[in-house]
Amino acid sequence: MQATAALTVAGSDRVEALLRQIAGDDLNREAVYLLNREAARMEQAGFLGCYYEALDLVLRNTLAHAHEWRGRGFCAVIDVAAIRQHHEAAALDRLLAAVCVHELAHHLEAWGRLSATPRPIASEPPPNLPTVVALVAQWRDQNEARQKESAPAWTGHGARFHRALAHLCHRLKREGHWGIATATLGFAGYGLSGMAKYERTLAGELLSGEGSAIRPILDSHPPPAFEALWERDTGQPCFWWY
Ligand SMILES: [Zn+2]
Repeated sequence: MQATAALTVAGSDRVEALLRQIAGDDLNREAVYLLNREAARMEQAGFLGCYYEALDLVLRNTLAHAHEWRGRGFCAVIDVAAIRQHHEAAALDRLLAAVCVHELAHHLEAWGRLSATPRPIASEPPPNLPTVVALVAQWRDQNEARQKESAPAWTGHGARFHRALAHLCHRLKREGHWGIATATLGFAGYGLSGMAKYERTLAGELLSGEGSAIRPILDSHPPPAFEALWERDTGQPCFWWY
């Protein structure tokens, strides 16, 4: 009989500790759930990691059933098999951490988006909470539409996401995790300028924000050099709040 994968990905304790170290106050009052795709009974959506701001609620029953529900928080579903298929076993830990950092950037950017007032992610659930099946179907449709329309590689990863990612990667490197920072998908991997270029445009706030929560920084106007680089890279205005 084949062993069933645990709901939580192997090694998630170490990854969670790392995420808490670089996110600081942003995750202070939140649970962290890094779940195996198969154990969460999710169909493959074509991604190495999946995030939705109420994914913790969508999977609440599954978490509760496994006695893992610890209240609202950051929840990402990781396709460990897909990561393993694409990469050597030796790099698995690093890539797993990199995928989780990418999903954490989505979690941080989702806070307060489209709203002048930051809204705690951990408050009320959205009115029409999707089922797991509907969510995966939606991700798949979006993925297919993107490919059909030849949408730019960064689609779904706007300026706000990349600003959050720049802060997380800066902190990873400060803690000596250069390999994870460079393996995290974004920037040049999405056809934009490289991470170093974006970091230079944000240099002041990356340093001054080192000990602070990242979410309030994302709600402030970014430096003009960051906006200019984004607009040059994408040919589109920098909607930094989205
Ligand atoms: Zn993403």
